[in-house]
Amino acid sequence: MPVDELSEVEPWLRFGAFVAIFVAVAVWEALAPRRRLRWSRARRWPHNLGLLALDVIVVRLLAPGAAIGVAVLAAAEGWGLLHALALPEWVAVAFAVLALDLAIYGQHILFHRVPLLWRLHRVHHTDTDFDVTTGTRFHPVEILLSLGIKCAVIMLLGAPPLAVLIFEVVLNVTSMFNHANARLPDAVDSWLRWLLVTPDMHRVHHSVVGREMNSNFGFNVPWWDRLFGTYRAQPLAGHSEMRIGVEGFDAPDEVRLSRLLVQPLHEPDPGPLPFQKEHA
Ligand SMILES: [Zn+2]
Ligand SMILES: [Zn+2]
Repeated sequence: MPVDELSEVEPWLRFGAFVAIFVAVAVWEALAPRRRLRWSRARRWPHNLGLLALDVIVVRLLAPGAAIGVAVLAAAEGWGLLHALALPEWVAVAFAVLALDLAIYGQHILFHRVPLLWRLHRVHHTDTDFDVTTGTRFHPVEILLSLGIKCAVIMLLGAPPLAVLIFEVVLNVTSMFNHANARLPDAVDSWLRWLLVTPDMHRVHHSVVGREMNSNFGFNVPWWDRLFGTYRAQPLAGHSEMRIGVEGFDAPDEVRLSRLLVQPLHEPDPGPLPFQKEHA
């Protein structure tokens, strides 16, 4: 397919894949739930999905088709490592998809380590439940920053436009799959997590426990966590009992979209003072 047509099909391909996988994961969650949800879907989903809608609008307004656009430009100008190497196309595509996945693994660690970036990424983590809509819950400023980083990586790498298209669609799909509040048979999970980040593997990353939250940073393939020593197999408290979220952000009001948008500006609620605990 000519590169300029890729930019046109990309939003539709992403949207189609989104709807199909969203429905499939939601049905799977209803049939085989992994944990009891703290809040009903009716209470949480409009806010998490509202944030997603806002993200889509912000990106469409400020930087429509930016990632593919940069890849098309790099291809036309011969910019980046892969154009200099002139590898066979399929090798370049496979290499670029993996390199982009490694880049967002590194970016994810950065968003946990740098306090200002953590405030933005924290919006994803303060969901006190973990389900398909958690995978769509990111602050618009985090989305724009990641898009900027992704464009820089695409340019340096000279990632082929087809690789960017595959990466965007796959990331969309896996993000909903690996946030599923759904049960995979243990044998399937332990086999599958050599190839893909499974819901049980990523759920560990949503624990309130610091050392669990700072593990399993991978989004698509689990290899970077295993390679760089950030892999943690299971949460200490078990999947049904573990607490999900961030300390100080579990008030009922925190689920609201209006709250999520300004949450990066807020300090965590320190909880009841010692004397209030005594009298509680
Ligand atoms: Zn994270
Ligand atoms: Zn997550």
